[in-house]
Amino acid sequence: MRIDIITVHPPLLESPFNHSILKRAAQKKIVDINVIDLRIYGLDPHRKLDDYAFGGGSGMVMMIEPIDNCINQLKKQRSYDEIIYMAPDGEQLTQASCNYFSTLKNIIVLCGHYKGIDERIREHLITKEISIGDYVLSGGELPAAVLCDAIIRLIPGVLNDETSALSDSFQDNLVSPPSYTRPADYKGWKVPDILLSGHNQKIEEWRHEQSILRTKLKRPNL
Ligand code: SAH
Repeated sequence: MRIDIITVHPPLLESPFNHSILKRAAQKKIVDINVIDLRIYGLDPHRKLDDYAFGGGSGMVMMIEPIDNCINQLKKQRSYDEIIYMAPDGEQLTQASCNYFSTLKNIIVLCGHYKGIDERIREHLITKEISIGDYVLSGGELPAAVLCDAIIRLIPGVLNDETSALSDSFQDNLVSPPSYTRPADYKGWKVPDILLSGHNQKIEEWRHEQSILRTKLKRPNL
């Protein structure tokens, strides 16, 4: 999978992809993440990227031309399955949409800044608008990192234990059962006996029951 992330602040995206699972995915060449500095496409003489909003009001708006030029340059090199804009009013990211994105070959992720982007970019260039939740962040970089992490870990070969992504919360509209590790008794706080029984089938049944119970309790909407 190839992910091209368009941003005005490339350093904001350096750390998330340079550690742990995402770094390994890149080293194994399962995913190729390219961070593109939109400033390169800024308009002369000062590599301008934003301007005042028509009609007035506070906040600068990202201009259409640099973003159009950048996307066109990328499209000349390959075709894209989706061109995603990170947007607080977009469709909320879910495990189901992450499953879908993880099957794609080439995607562009556009990070907004300031007041957002010129609406015509959304109308004519963007194929999906994704929100990571009903709150507003200062830029699309952290949301883009969240999106990429959630989808990359689903690509076969990224996680060592293939089944572990499938048993994560939300995959069956259920949250995960509780997990415990040693010691079995810490200050009198005990691990459920069933997990120490060695009876695999009973343990699986117990975990499934716990998933259902916890989903009802913590996420009844699921
Ligand atoms: N004025 C806009 C907010 C702009 S925030 C509004 O009220 O909708 C600046 C940028 O941060 C956005 O363009 C978007 O790319 C990103 N962003 C902020 N919150 C986000 C969220 N919850 N999900 C995805 N992207 C978000």
